[in-house]
Amino acid sequence: MPMQLPTTAAYVYADPLSRHVLRQDHPMRPVRLRYTFELLQVLGAFDGAQSQLVPPRIATEAELLAFHTPDYVAAVRSLSGGLSMPSPGRYGFGHTGDNPIYPGMYEAALLSTGASLAGAELLVTGKAAVAFSPAGGLHHAMPSNASGFCIFNDPVVAIYALLARGMKVAYVDIDAHHGDGVQCAFYDTDAVLTVSLHESGRYLFPGTGFVEEMGSGKGVGYSVNVPLAPYTGDDVYLWAFEEVVPPVLGAFKPDILVTQLGIDTYYNDPITHLALTSRGYSRAVELLAQQARTLNIPWLALGGGGYNLSAVARCWALAYGIMSGRQWPESVPQETPVEVVTALGKTTLRDKDAPALPAQVQEATRRFAEETIKEVKARVFPFHGLRA
Ligand SMILES: [Zn+2]
Repeated sequence: MPMQLPTTAAYVYADPLSRHVLRQDHPMRPVRLRYTFELLQVLGAFDGAQSQLVPPRIATEAELLAFHTPDYVAAVRSLSGGLSMPSPGRYGFGHTGDNPIYPGMYEAALLSTGASLAGAELLVTGKAAVAFSPAGGLHHAMPSNASGFCIFNDPVVAIYALLARGMKVAYVDIDAHHGDGVQCAFYDTDAVLTVSLHESGRYLFPGTGFVEEMGSGKGVGYSVNVPLAPYTGDDVYLWAFEEVVPPVLGAFKPDILVTQLGIDTYYNDPITHLALTSRGYSRAVELLAQQARTLNIPWLALGGGGYNLSAVARCWALAYGIMSGRQWPESVPQETPVEVVTALGKTTLRDKDAPALPAQVQEATRRFAEETIKEVKARVFPFHGLRA
Protein backbone atom coordinates (compact mmCIF):
# COMPACT_ATOMS: atom_id res chain seq x y z
CA MET A 1 0.00 0.00 0.00
CA PRO A 2 1.45 3.40 -0.90
CA MET A 3 1.77 5.82 1.97
CA GLN A 4 -1.18 8.21 2.23
CA LEU A 5 0.16 11.75 1.98
CA PRO A 6 -1.58 14.67 3.62
CA THR A 7 -3.24 17.00 1.11
CA THR A 8 -2.41 20.34 2.62
CA ALA A 9 0.06 22.92 1.37
CA ALA A 10 2.19 25.16 3.57
CA TYR A 11 3.71 28.56 2.81
CA VAL A 12 6.70 29.44 4.98
CA TYR A 13 6.93 33.17 5.43
CA ALA A 14 7.03 36.08 7.86
CA ASP A 15 7.93 39.71 7.23
CA PRO A 16 11.46 39.66 8.73
CA LEU A 17 12.45 37.56 5.68
CA SER A 18 11.83 40.53 3.39
CA ARG A 19 13.18 43.49 5.36
CA HIS A 20 16.90 43.45 4.63
CA VAL A 21 18.54 45.40 1.82
CA LEU A 22 21.75 43.97 0.38
CA ARG A 23 22.72 47.33 -1.10
CA GLN A 24 20.59 50.13 -2.53
CA ASP A 25 21.48 49.29 -6.15
CA HIS A 26 21.57 45.49 -5.71
CA PRO A 27 19.31 43.45 -8.04
CA MET A 28 18.37 40.95 -5.28
CA ARG A 29 15.54 42.74 -3.47
CA PRO A 30 14.01 40.76 -0.59
CA VAL A 31 10.99 43.08 -0.67
CA ARG A 32 9.82 40.87 -3.57
CA LEU A 33 8.87 38.30 -0.91
CA ARG A 34 6.54 40.76 0.78
CA TYR A 35 4.91 41.66 -2.55
CA THR A 36 4.36 37.95 -3.27
CA PHE A 37 2.90 37.37 0.19
CA GLU A 38 0.58 40.39 0.04
CA LEU A 39 -0.67 39.32 -3.38
CA LEU A 40 -1.31 35.79 -2.08
CA GLN A 41 -3.13 37.22 0.92
CA VAL A 42 -5.61 39.21 -1.20
CA LEU A 43 -6.09 36.12 -3.36
CA GLY A 44 -7.25 34.30 -0.21
CA ALA A 45 -4.39 31.81 -0.46
CA PHE A 46 -4.25 31.17 3.28
CA ASP A 47 -8.00 30.77 3.82
CA GLY A 48 -9.39 27.30 4.26
CA ALA A 49 -8.08 24.09 5.71
CA GLN A 50 -5.99 23.09 2.68
CA SER A 51 -3.37 25.80 3.12
CA GLN A 52 -1.33 26.90 6.10
CA LEU A 53 0.85 29.93 6.62
CA VAL A 54 3.83 28.85 8.72
CA PRO A 55 6.50 31.12 10.25
CA PRO A 56 10.19 30.43 9.60
CA ARG A 57 12.65 29.51 12.31
CA ILE A 58 16.31 30.32 12.71
CA ALA A 59 18.78 27.69 11.50
CA THR A 60 21.26 26.53 14.11
CA GLU A 61 24.99 26.77 13.63
CA ALA A 62 25.20 22.96 13.81
CA GLU A 63 22.79 22.74 10.86
CA LEU A 64 24.95 25.13 8.80
CA LEU A 65 28.06 23.10 9.59
CA ALA A 66 26.63 20.15 7.68
CA PHE A 67 27.88 22.05 4.60
CA HIS A 68 29.67 25.26 5.59
CA THR A 69 33.09 25.51 7.23
CA PRO A 70 33.34 26.83 10.81
CA ASP A 71 35.66 29.69 9.80
CA TYR A 72 33.26 30.83 7.07
CA VAL A 73 30.27 30.81 9.46
CA ALA A 74 32.34 32.78 11.99
CA ALA A 75 33.41 35.26 9.28
CA VAL A 76 29.79 35.89 8.21
CA ARG A 77 28.85 36.49 11.85
CA SER A 78 31.73 38.95 12.40
CA LEU A 79 31.23 40.89 9.17
CA SER A 80 27.48 41.05 9.82
CA GLY A 81 28.11 42.56 13.24
CA GLY A 82 30.27 45.29 11.74
CA LEU A 83 33.66 43.86 12.64
CA SER A 84 36.24 44.40 9.95
CA MET A 85 38.53 41.59 8.99
CA PRO A 86 41.44 41.34 6.61
CA SER A 87 40.50 40.36 3.05
CA PRO A 88 36.78 39.49 3.29
CA GLY A 89 37.20 38.71 -0.41
CA ARG A 90 38.48 35.27 0.49
CA TYR A 91 34.96 34.50 1.76
CA GLY A 92 33.38 35.93 -1.38
CA PHE A 93 32.39 39.27 0.18
CA GLY A 94 33.13 42.79 -0.96
CA HIS A 95 31.61 46.26 -0.73
CA THR A 96 30.98 46.24 -4.44
CA GLY A 97 30.09 43.19 -6.51
CA ASP A 98 27.59 40.37 -6.03
CA ASN A 99 27.98 39.74 -2.31
CA PRO A 100 28.04 42.97 -0.33
CA ILE A 101 28.63 43.03 3.40
CA TYR A 102 25.56 44.47 5.14
CA PRO A 103 24.60 44.73 8.80
CA GLY A 104 22.44 41.83 9.95
CA MET A 105 23.32 39.58 7.03
CA TYR A 106 24.13 36.69 9.37
CA GLU A 107 20.69 36.82 11.00
CA ALA A 108 18.96 37.25 7.62
CA ALA A 109 20.79 34.23 6.21
CA LEU A 110 20.03 32.12 9.31
CA LEU A 111 16.35 32.95 8.93
CA SER A 112 16.07 32.14 5.22
CA THR A 113 17.94 28.86 5.83
CA GLY A 114 15.69 28.09 8.81
CA ALA A 115 12.61 28.81 6.66
CA SER A 116 13.58 26.03 4.27
CA LEU A 117 14.34 23.71 7.20
CA ALA A 118 10.91 24.51 8.66
CA GLY A 119 9.38 23.55 5.30
CA ALA A 120 11.26 20.25 5.31
CA GLU A 121 10.06 19.52 8.86
CA LEU A 122 6.40 20.04 7.90
CA LEU A 123 6.84 17.38 5.24
CA VAL A 124 8.71 14.77 7.25
CA THR A 125 6.28 15.08 10.16
CA GLY A 126 3.35 14.59 7.78
CA LYS A 127 1.83 18.03 8.43
CA ALA A 128 1.86 18.98 4.74
CA ALA A 129 2.31 17.35 1.35
CA VAL A 130 4.00 20.38 -0.14
CA ALA A 131 5.81 23.28 1.51
CA PHE A 132 6.94 26.41 -0.30
CA SER A 133 9.77 28.46 1.23
CA PRO A 134 10.11 31.38 -1.21
CA ALA A 135 12.97 32.95 0.78
CA GLY A 136 15.09 29.86 0.13
CA GLY A 137 16.71 28.44 -2.97
CA LEU A 138 20.04 30.20 -2.46
CA HIS A 139 21.82 27.60 -4.54
CA HIS A 140 25.18 29.25 -5.27
CA ALA A 141 26.61 29.44 -1.73
CA MET A 142 29.72 27.28 -1.35
CA PRO A 143 31.18 25.61 1.77
CA SER A 144 33.55 28.47 2.57
CA ASN A 145 32.36 31.40 0.50
CA ALA A 146 29.35 33.47 -0.50
CA SER A 147 28.54 33.44 -4.19
CA GLY A 148 25.90 34.83 -6.54
CA PHE A 149 23.90 36.73 -3.86
CA CYS A 150 23.83 33.59 -1.64
CA ILE A 151 25.40 33.39 1.83
CA PHE A 152 24.22 30.04 3.22
CA ASN A 153 23.04 27.26 0.92
CA ASP A 154 19.59 26.43 2.31
CA PRO A 155 18.82 23.77 -0.32
CA VAL A 156 21.94 21.85 0.72
CA VAL A 157 21.33 22.30 4.45
CA ALA A 158 17.71 21.13 4.05
CA ILE A 159 18.76 18.16 1.93
CA TYR A 160 21.28 17.13 4.61
CA ALA A 161 18.44 17.16 7.15
CA LEU A 162 16.43 14.86 4.85
CA LEU A 163 19.41 12.55 4.27
CA ALA A 164 19.81 12.25 8.04
CA ARG A 165 16.35 10.66 8.05
CA GLY A 166 17.50 8.11 5.49
CA MET A 167 15.63 9.69 2.58
CA LYS A 168 16.66 9.55 -1.08
CA VAL A 169 16.36 13.07 -2.43
CA ALA A 170 15.68 14.34 -5.96
CA TYR A 171 16.57 18.02 -6.45
CA VAL A 172 15.29 19.83 -9.54
CA ASP A 173 16.51 23.39 -10.17
CA ILE A 174 14.70 25.54 -12.75
CA ASP A 175 16.48 28.83 -11.94
CA ALA A 176 18.08 30.52 -14.97
CA HIS A 177 21.49 29.92 -13.34
CA HIS A 178 23.16 26.56 -12.83
CA GLY A 179 22.60 25.16 -9.30
CA ASP A 180 26.34 24.85 -8.76
CA GLY A 181 26.47 24.87 -4.94
CA VAL A 182 23.95 22.04 -4.65
CA GLN A 183 25.65 20.02 -7.37
CA CYS A 184 28.99 20.54 -5.59
CA ALA A 185 27.60 19.29 -2.26
CA PHE A 186 26.28 16.03 -3.66
CA TYR A 187 28.61 15.43 -6.61
CA ASP A 188 29.97 12.13 -5.29
CA THR A 189 26.84 10.49 -3.90
CA ASP A 190 23.99 8.49 -5.41
CA ALA A 191 21.67 9.37 -2.50
CA VAL A 192 20.86 12.76 -4.07
CA LEU A 193 19.97 13.23 -7.72
CA THR A 194 20.47 16.83 -8.87
CA VAL A 195 18.90 18.06 -12.10
CA SER A 196 19.47 21.64 -13.25
CA LEU A 197 17.95 23.32 -16.31
CA HIS A 198 19.59 26.68 -16.97
CA GLU A 199 21.01 29.16 -19.41
CA SER A 200 24.31 27.70 -20.60
CA GLY A 201 27.39 28.54 -18.56
CA ARG A 202 28.92 29.73 -21.82
CA TYR A 203 26.77 32.83 -21.54
CA LEU A 204 25.86 33.21 -17.87
CA PHE A 205 27.15 33.06 -14.29
CA PRO A 206 28.40 30.79 -12.72
CA GLY A 207 29.87 29.42 -15.96
CA THR A 208 29.25 25.76 -15.06
CA GLY A 209 26.46 23.22 -15.58
CA PHE A 210 27.61 21.49 -18.74
CA VAL A 211 26.26 18.04 -19.62
CA GLU A 212 29.63 16.40 -18.99
CA GLU A 213 29.47 17.42 -15.30
CA MET A 214 27.82 14.14 -14.31
CA GLY A 215 29.12 13.41 -10.82
CA SER A 216 32.11 11.46 -9.55
CA GLY A 217 32.72 8.10 -7.86
CA LYS A 218 29.42 6.61 -6.67
CA GLY A 219 27.72 9.79 -7.86
CA VAL A 220 28.44 9.39 -11.59
CA GLY A 221 25.15 9.85 -13.42
CA TYR A 222 23.48 11.57 -10.45
CA SER A 223 24.34 15.15 -11.48
CA VAL A 224 22.23 16.02 -14.51
CA ASN A 225 22.64 19.28 -16.42
CA VAL A 226 20.47 20.70 -19.16
CA PRO A 227 22.11 23.88 -20.50
CA LEU A 228 19.98 25.97 -22.84
CA ALA A 229 20.68 28.83 -25.24
CA PRO A 230 19.90 32.47 -24.48
CA TYR A 231 16.36 33.42 -25.65
CA THR A 232 14.99 29.92 -25.15
CA GLY A 233 11.21 30.37 -24.85
CA ASP A 234 8.33 28.43 -23.30
CA ASP A 235 7.87 25.68 -25.87
CA VAL A 236 11.52 24.66 -26.29
CA TYR A 237 12.07 24.90 -22.53
CA LEU A 238 9.10 22.68 -21.72
CA TRP A 239 10.08 20.19 -24.38
CA ALA A 240 13.59 19.87 -22.87
CA PHE A 241 12.10 19.61 -19.36
CA GLU A 242 9.77 16.77 -20.33
CA GLU A 243 12.51 14.88 -22.15
CA VAL A 244 14.66 14.69 -19.02
CA VAL A 245 12.91 15.34 -15.71
CA PRO A 246 10.09 12.74 -15.69
CA PRO A 247 12.24 9.82 -16.93
CA VAL A 248 15.19 10.39 -14.57
CA LEU A 249 12.94 11.00 -11.56
CA GLY A 250 10.90 7.93 -12.43
CA ALA A 251 14.06 5.82 -12.61
CA PHE A 252 15.61 7.28 -9.44
CA LYS A 253 12.48 6.75 -7.30
CA PRO A 254 13.15 9.42 -4.68
CA ASP A 255 11.51 9.58 -1.25
CA ILE A 256 11.13 13.35 -1.50
CA LEU A 257 11.29 16.05 -4.17
CA VAL A 258 13.14 19.32 -3.52
CA THR A 259 12.85 22.03 -6.18
CA GLN A 260 14.45 25.42 -6.67
CA LEU A 261 11.91 27.60 -8.47
CA GLY A 262 13.88 30.72 -9.45
CA ILE A 263 11.92 32.90 -11.86
CA ASP A 264 14.90 34.64 -13.44
CA THR A 265 14.13 32.54 -16.54
CA TYR A 266 11.53 35.26 -17.24
CA TYR A 267 11.81 37.07 -20.55
CA ASN A 268 12.06 40.49 -18.93
CA ASP A 269 14.48 39.50 -16.19
CA PRO A 270 17.19 42.17 -16.10
CA ILE A 271 20.18 39.88 -15.48
CA THR A 272 19.59 36.74 -17.59
CA HIS A 273 18.61 35.94 -21.18
CA LEU A 274 16.06 33.13 -21.20
CA ALA A 275 12.60 33.99 -22.50
CA LEU A 276 9.93 32.23 -20.44
CA THR A 277 6.53 33.75 -19.77
CA SER A 278 4.23 33.09 -16.82
CA ARG A 279 2.64 30.37 -18.97
CA GLY A 280 5.85 28.38 -19.48
CA TYR A 281 6.91 28.85 -15.86
CA SER A 282 3.54 27.75 -14.48
CA ARG A 283 3.53 24.74 -16.76
CA ALA A 284 6.98 23.70 -15.45
CA VAL A 285 5.68 24.02 -11.88
CA GLU A 286 2.61 21.96 -12.83
CA LEU A 287 4.87 19.27 -14.26
CA LEU A 288 6.81 19.18 -10.97
CA ALA A 289 3.54 18.90 -9.04
CA GLN A 290 2.57 16.04 -11.33
CA GLN A 291 5.90 14.31 -10.59
CA ALA A 292 5.33 14.56 -6.82
CA ARG A 293 1.82 13.14 -7.25
CA THR A 294 2.88 10.34 -9.59
CA LEU A 295 5.76 9.31 -7.33
CA ASN A 296 3.53 9.82 -4.26
CA ILE A 297 6.21 11.79 -2.42
CA PRO A 298 6.27 15.07 -0.47
CA TRP A 299 7.55 18.20 -2.19
CA LEU A 300 9.75 20.93 -0.72
CA ALA A 301 9.60 23.94 -3.04
CA LEU A 302 12.16 26.72 -2.60
CA GLY A 303 12.41 30.18 -4.16
CA GLY A 304 15.54 31.36 -5.89
CA GLY A 305 16.49 34.06 -8.36
CA GLY A 306 14.04 36.56 -9.82
CA TYR A 307 14.92 40.19 -10.47
CA ASN A 308 11.82 41.42 -12.27
CA LEU A 309 9.66 42.06 -9.22
CA SER A 310 6.38 41.84 -11.12
CA ALA A 311 7.30 38.42 -12.48
CA VAL A 312 8.39 37.19 -9.04
CA ALA A 313 5.16 38.16 -7.28
CA ARG A 314 2.84 36.96 -10.04
CA CYS A 315 4.67 33.72 -10.91
CA TRP A 316 5.27 32.64 -7.30
CA ALA A 317 1.62 33.39 -6.51
CA LEU A 318 0.67 31.21 -9.50
CA ALA A 319 3.10 28.53 -8.28
CA TYR A 320 1.56 28.45 -4.81
CA GLY A 321 -1.88 28.24 -6.42
CA ILE A 322 -0.73 25.07 -8.19
CA MET A 323 0.74 23.65 -4.96
CA SER A 324 -2.41 24.32 -2.95
CA GLY A 325 -4.80 23.18 -5.68
CA ARG A 326 -6.35 26.61 -6.23
CA GLN A 327 -7.20 28.36 -9.46
CA TRP A 328 -6.58 32.12 -9.21
CA PRO A 329 -8.64 34.61 -11.22
CA GLU A 330 -7.24 36.42 -14.26
CA SER A 331 -7.26 39.83 -12.63
CA VAL A 332 -5.14 41.14 -9.79
CA PRO A 333 -7.70 41.64 -6.96
CA GLN A 334 -9.04 45.16 -6.33
CA GLU A 335 -7.94 45.02 -2.68
CA THR A 336 -4.25 44.56 -3.59
CA PRO A 337 -2.15 47.18 -1.75
CA VAL A 338 -1.16 50.12 -3.98
CA GLU A 339 2.56 49.50 -3.44
CA VAL A 340 2.14 45.95 -4.76
CA VAL A 341 -0.03 47.03 -7.70
CA THR A 342 2.66 49.54 -8.66
CA ALA A 343 5.35 46.85 -8.47
CA LEU A 344 3.24 44.48 -10.58
CA GLY A 345 2.75 47.11 -13.27
CA LYS A 346 -0.15 45.13 -14.73
CA THR A 347 -3.69 44.21 -13.84
CA THR A 348 -3.55 40.52 -14.74
CA LEU A 349 -1.79 37.70 -12.92
CA ARG A 350 -0.82 35.92 -16.12
CA ASP A 351 1.09 37.47 -19.01
CA LYS A 352 -1.00 38.63 -21.92
CA ASP A 353 2.07 39.52 -23.93
CA ALA A 354 4.98 37.31 -24.95
CA PRO A 355 8.43 38.13 -26.23
CA ALA A 356 8.60 38.48 -30.01
CA LEU A 357 11.40 36.09 -30.89
CA PRO A 358 12.53 36.17 -34.53
CA ALA A 359 12.07 32.83 -36.32
CA GLN A 360 15.81 32.27 -36.70
CA VAL A 361 16.33 32.79 -32.96
CA GLN A 362 13.60 30.28 -32.16
CA GLU A 363 15.16 27.84 -34.57
CA ALA A 364 18.63 28.31 -33.05
CA THR A 365 17.36 27.77 -29.49
CA ARG A 366 15.52 24.63 -30.60
CA ARG A 367 18.65 23.20 -32.24
CA PHE A 368 20.72 24.00 -29.14
CA ALA A 369 18.19 22.23 -26.89
CA GLU A 370 18.05 19.22 -29.20
CA GLU A 371 21.85 18.88 -29.04
CA THR A 372 21.77 19.16 -25.24
CA ILE A 373 19.05 16.53 -24.89
CA LYS A 374 20.82 14.17 -27.28
CA GLU A 375 23.96 14.47 -25.17
CA VAL A 376 22.12 14.01 -21.85
CA LYS A 377 20.43 10.89 -23.17
CA ALA A 378 23.66 9.44 -24.54
CA ARG A 379 25.78 10.16 -21.45
CA VAL A 380 23.44 10.12 -18.44
CA PHE A 381 20.44 7.96 -19.28
CA PRO A 382 22.40 4.65 -19.32
CA PHE A 383 23.30 5.16 -15.62
CA HIS A 384 19.56 5.04 -14.86
CA GLY A 385 18.73 2.09 -17.09
CA LEU A 386 17.01 4.45 -19.52
CA ARG A 387 17.31 4.13 -23.26
CA ALA A 388 19.21 6.96 -24.97
ZN1 LIG B 1 19.35 32.67 -10.83
